[in-house]
Amino acid sequence: MRTSIATVSLSGSLTEKLTAASRAGFDGVEIFENDLLASPLTPEEIRARCADLGLTIDLYQPMRDIEAVPEDEFARNLRRARHKFELMRRLGTDAVLVCSTVSPLALDDDALAAAQLGRLADLAQDFGVRVAYEALAWGRHVSTYDHAWSIVEAAGHPALGTCLDSFHILSRGSDPKGIEDIPGEKIFFLQLADAPLLAMDVLQWSRHYRCFPGQGGFDIAGLLQHVVRAGYDGPLSLEVFNDVFRQAEAGTTAVDARRSLLVLQESIGLASLPGPVVPTGIAFAELVTPDAEPVAAILGALGLARTARHRSKPVDLWERGEARILVNTGPAARRDGTGLAAVGLESPDPEGAARRAEALLAPVLPRRRAPEDAPLDAVAAPDGTELFFCATDRPELPNWRADFETIEYVETAGDVAGAVDRIDHLALTQPWHHFDEAALFHRSVLGLHGQESVDVADPYGLFRSRAVTNSGGSVRIALAVGPAPTEDETRAQHIALATDDVVAAARRFRAAGGGLLPMPANYYDDLAARYEFTEGELATYRELGILYDRDAQGEFRHCYTRTVGRVFFELVQRDGGYQGYGAQNAPVRLAAQHGQRPLR
Ligand code: MG
Ligand code: MG
Repeated sequence: MRTSIATVSLSGSLTEKLTAASRAGFDGVEIFENDLLASPLTPEEIRARCADLGLTIDLYQPMRDIEAVPEDEFARNLRRARHKFELMRRLGTDAVLVCSTVSPLALDDDALAAAQLGRLADLAQDFGVRVAYEALAWGRHVSTYDHAWSIVEAAGHPALGTCLDSFHILSRGSDPKGIEDIPGEKIFFLQLADAPLLAMDVLQWSRHYRCFPGQGGFDIAGLLQHVVRAGYDGPLSLEVFNDVFRQAEAGTTAVDARRSLLVLQESIGLASLPGPVVPTGIAFAELVTPDAEPVAAILGALGLARTARHRSKPVDLWERGEARILVNTGPAARRDGTGLAAVGLESPDPEGAARRAEALLAPVLPRRRAPEDAPLDAVAAPDGTELFFCATDRPELPNWRADFETIEYVETAGDVAGAVDRIDHLALTQPWHHFDEAALFHRSVLGLHGQESVDVADPYGLFRSRAVTNSGGSVRIALAVGPAPTEDETRAQHIALATDDVVAAARRFRAAGGGLLPMPANYYDDLAARYEFTEGELATYRELGILYDRDAQGEFRHCYTRTVGRVFFELVQRDGGYQGYGAQNAPVRLAAQHGQRPLR
């Protein structure tokens, strides 16, 4: 199906919005009236610009407060409509959105509404315009889609149809099944928007919190199925009013928007994309740093050993068990300081994973490598993190390990108490305006599933986190967004290493010269009030700065290292199927981190 986006969904000037929509691959746009009013371009120039960009103008919107009013008022409304129809002729668009009236002058009289909308359609027809009547969820007398349709049906005018808007329908709790009773050719337009499930005034909800399909809590796919079954064959158009998208860069938002429509269409069989290849593990996390020494000190204290060096690049491999961390001192590090730049994902089909990512508009990264290096498929996540798809259990495929030469490896004997054995999770802090996009990206591109979003109080604002995982929990990525007093901290990331004995791990780390993040005494007094611990257990946690959490499945013990650049490490011990990340403890941890200066 054709795709379209309302200009109100994107930031910037009308020209910037149109350019972004075109670049993201939309077929058309809805021109929002305020965008046109504020534009220095004439309607003819806007029309030409859209044509140059390969965009059709699918709808002009909105026309408000038209119907069910006393005759003298309606005469004024028709005069206003005539001006707009003339404008639409100059724009070269043939469909206008009329929202159900909110005017205090409007009468609760469906017959009058139908008669006046019929007369509006008569006038529209003279201009070759079709009128799409939409029920606003907060309309004065008409607020549901079936009510709007009954008025359109009663008017029985060929130039009058209805516009369905998923937000208005689902926010009212209407049953969308009734859409199938509307003849497809009378559905003149379809606007799609999702929203988080919030208990609030519906107008405020609509104006500020709409989001792209798949980013909220509505069943947009279910609604779309009804619309398709009704026989609608017009564009799928996104109309999203959102405070964040209004400020975010239009090009990024447009790509996010179009990705959401691709995923939506795929979910009900309207688009066929390369299927998701779910990663089966984390092959490595790659740190870049201008100075390997402090990173090496921490990794060594954490019990990882520097085992290999890349053949052609200044990259070292540090590992212990299944935990593998690359330390890259190449050019990127000198530019950006110490940070988590890339993640290697174990994939049963790296090429397939990259094909899906590309189909879902993820930038595919050039294979920057020496001729003898393994060609790795990689894409960029919305926050710029490079995701490498690494072949797992496929000896015939290129293997990233083959690019590394063993330098030294003294295997420490057997079971060292508290040895780390794998990466439990990675926490990637997102730029604030990319949070919803990041969650949708990781779910749709990588086939991971999202866990609950949690809000955590930070001393300087609100911190929001949402994890995506594979079904076995061997890939866990916590996406977070939050305030921070410095630019560096806004991009803080962490690598959590799993151990089966966090107390031993913390002691070893400290004995090896590692600095653990100290936690306040008040935290432990509170823990003592909430849980019963064995003799001395809490004293140990207090001494080491170990945090504790528990859910219905099990227990979680974790502690944090000092921050280096934008990165810190966490040691975690999961017992008995605990699925979380210690969100309960995050306010205390965040406050403790604000009190510490990063090492460098
Ligand atoms: Mg609408
Ligand atoms: Mg964590």
